[in-house]
Amino acid sequence: MSTIAANPENQTKWEMVIGLEVHVELHTETKLFCSCPNKFGAEPNTLVCPVCLGLPGTLPSLNRRAVELHLKAARALGCQIQEFSKFDRKNYFYPDIPKNFQTSQYDLPLAYKGWLELSPGRVIGITRIHLEEDTGKSTHLALAGNELQPSRLGKSDRTHIDYNRAGVPLLEIVSEPDMREAEEAYQYVDKLREVILWLGISDCKMEQGSLRCDANVSVRPLGQRELGTKTEIKNMNSLRSIRDAIESERVRQIQVLESGGRIVQETRGWDEGSGTTISMRSKEEAQDYRYFPEPDLPSLVFSKEEVKAVDDLLPELPAARRERYQKAFGLDTDAVEYLTIEPFFGQFFESTVATGADPVEVAKWMANTLSRLSNELETSLQDSKLTPVSLGELLSLIASDEVGAKSGQKVVEVLFTEGGDAGSVVDKLGLRQLSSPAQLKPILQEILNENPAVVAEFKEGKGKALNVLVGKVMKQTKGAANPGLTRSLLEELIGESI
Ligand SMILES: [Zn+2]
Repeated sequence: MSTIAANPENQTKWEMVIGLEVHVELHTETKLFCSCPNKFGAEPNTLVCPVCLGLPGTLPSLNRRAVELHLKAARALGCQIQEFSKFDRKNYFYPDIPKNFQTSQYDLPLAYKGWLELSPGRVIGITRIHLEEDTGKSTHLALAGNELQPSRLGKSDRTHIDYNRAGVPLLEIVSEPDMREAEEAYQYVDKLREVILWLGISDCKMEQGSLRCDANVSVRPLGQRELGTKTEIKNMNSLRSIRDAIESERVRQIQVLESGGRIVQETRGWDEGSGTTISMRSKEEAQDYRYFPEPDLPSLVFSKEEVKAVDDLLPELPAARRERYQKAFGLDTDAVEYLTIEPFFGQFFESTVATGADPVEVAKWMANTLSRLSNELETSLQDSKLTPVSLGELLSLIASDEVGAKSGQKVVEVLFTEGGDAGSVVDKLGLRQLSSPAQLKPILQEILNENPAVVAEFKEGKGKALNVLVGKVMKQTKGAANPGLTRSLLEELIGESI
């Protein structure tokens, strides 16, 4: 953790301002401007061609699917769509950019003015979302003795570059500087990830770099309108490291300012090991990039009708679904959170409820039993053999006392792994509950005859003796006896024998 600690008494005088830039790799078959596969984990520099390597004489050709996914994300995040937008060249000279410029969008991004709700009433503005190509990936190595090892920040004796990633379609989602605490930044990325995953447009794996986040952080005296000088933090590889890095940077900036120093506008890297941010380089300004319109690509033009067509195809988003489930089915917060982990859960839930099952029961079975089975058997609900109809049927058998809740657990496991209809599985396993007095009475009488001592204890007023008898009935019937009915019939039979 951070070794820097500002005077806690003074910390209340400062306010932190955070804006985030989130990069999301789009899940397309091919790259943004060529037909190379968009795939993670291949041998380095095998998924490349003259176009994405920027060789002379090549021309880019725009991937339509990437634009469709961009529009989807933009509308789901409440953005307006620019009727006319274009690509620009962002010129910079790092080895990971084989063309010496990145095709991006500058003054006319495709989408702008969106928003994301963190919690009821807490809304973070989204300034813009633009489409650009990803860069290659650099791996820095440093000498440790005679061996090269992956290096800590800032140290590099040798750099390996993999251009497989160069040209992969990337969304840059820029927030307004609306966040005030590290925890809010954590929530923002978490919610953003939820929406993007829900739409199925990226796998958002931070550990593989398909979701990356940079944070712009500044502090100012509480009450001051003018923003303080900001630093940009990079190299955060998990949600937790986003929160830790921002908090550490807040403490550092306050300490610098309180000791009479000034904040230098720069890019800093998060060093997980030391729990601090480390200066990497001075921050570039827009003019350093000498943007100019990309002459090799046509402009993008979208009519209102085309935007409406995107809206018509948008699914119900998780936040809206949670609200609807709470109102329509009376489910609690935990249940609606569970049912919106992925779109399929909600579909399964609603289809089961449509068979006439009680919504609260369905949600409970999904969050407890089905989630446990999924984990134990390493099979997702979607890949299992269980259908909403068979679950609905089982719940109805349980509700009508034909199957006990405990036996239901065994039945659902068979339905999950083998499929079939609930009624047949119940009969096959011999779990149909004995619920009629005529069926039960002969069995109970036999148990009473075999256990005179226990019966005597019950007669002497030892209530626990009845539990012993119920247990023996359950054992005898392999759990098929209806427990409530068994109890009352046992009392009745013992009463008659007095
Ligand atoms: Zn290519």
